[in-house]
Amino acid sequence: MSSSRILVLNSGSSSVKYQLLDMRDSSRLAVGLVERIGEETARLRHTPLASGAETREWGGAIADHEAALKAVSAELAKDGLGLDSPELAAIGHRVVHGGKHFTEPTVIDDAVLAEIERLIPVAPLHNPANLTGIRTAQHLRPDLPQVAVFDTAFHTTMPESAARYAIDVETADRHRIRRYGFHGTSHAYVSRATAKLLGKAPEDVNVIVLHLGNGASASAVRGGRCVDTSMGLTPLEGLVMGTRSGDLDPAVIFHLARVGEMSIEEIDTLLNKKSGLIGLCGDNDMREIHRRIDEGDERAQLAFDIYIHRLKKYIGAYYAVLGTVDGIAFTAGVGENAAPVREAALAGLEQLGLVVDAGLNAVRGDEPRLISPDGARVAVAVVPTDEELEIATQTYALVGNR
Ligand code: ADP
Repeated sequence: MSSSRILVLNSGSSSVKYQLLDMRDSSRLAVGLVERIGEETARLRHTPLASGAETREWGGAIADHEAALKAVSAELAKDGLGLDSPELAAIGHRVVHGGKHFTEPTVIDDAVLAEIERLIPVAPLHNPANLTGIRTAQHLRPDLPQVAVFDTAFHTTMPESAARYAIDVETADRHRIRRYGFHGTSHAYVSRATAKLLGKAPEDVNVIVLHLGNGASASAVRGGRCVDTSMGLTPLEGLVMGTRSGDLDPAVIFHLARVGEMSIEEIDTLLNKKSGLIGLCGDNDMREIHRRIDEGDERAQLAFDIYIHRLKKYIGAYYAVLGTVDGIAFTAGVGENAAPVREAALAGLEQLGLVVDAGLNAVRGDEPRLISPDGARVAVAVVPTDEELEIATQTYALVGNR
């Protein structure tokens, strides 16, 4: 029997997001989410797309990731799609940090697990949760290939000139300090989809991808290979995000420690969780910021202006890095939905060939589309990202039809 289904797992410390796809036509059979794992008030939300049945929600105690995956399997089994199904070809895991070593999706064995574990110091929040998800899935289906798809892999093509910080080389190497970049699965998918929208092969185009979600990052992609990206050792560097500061003078940290008498943990929380849009105006949802701006709220306006100023700087920087640009793609929650962000980010850049057509920009849709006028020197596109499909595609390509 041919096995064509891939289960994609995105495991967080207290949550698991999942999708089951049929790779014969890349269709989604089921999607869902388990939240608050380890608590009495855990929730499971399961949408069985194959059968067209209603979304099912379940609340109660879920002790750990194993219990969560068993609950997911039980939901899938109601439609004959459980984890024990012979048609399941593999499980694809999102793994946040793959360091320098993992440049490709990788079939997981003990050595791979050990390397992901070795990277915990540079990804203390994410890699332990990803490992738990992998080990749990291995325990439930030891016979099944499990594949790790790394958020960092797409960025491993960055040249040393972009990947290194200008600090002492030995210190940097000893502590594995370099720019790794994140959201790579999305940047890979969107840059390819943009080439397709332009009717070209990825090798033949230079693209700037702006992944603007709650976390946000930009990348410069030359001929299908990433040459620079805005996140660094961790996802804190770069653009202004929902709750992260993005770039700042590192001396701000010394100042907060010495003068503000804050601990390293407090500063970490400040910069990762209480900065960016939420730190600037109290809201991190761009919809709410638009609403407040429409009411004349000055703090919301300033937060928006700082967000746009930083975004524009990266567009200019990556334009310079690439030399020639064929397309700029906006993606993720803000990039796909917030027309005012797209308009403001490119305003005044006509000399660079960057123009947004107001009518096209206002149209909403789920498909990749151009928002630049016909004949524009640089295509401006809105390209919905699909990290799960990309993980499933890469996993299936690796394990094939066994
Ligand atoms: P992440 O995966 O990083 O959690 P998403 O890519 O789902 O984030 O993006 C979430 C963000 O997208 C929200 O915080 C909100 O700011 C923004 N967003 C979602 N829908 C809209 C919309 N219709 N208009 C403007 N912004 C939106």
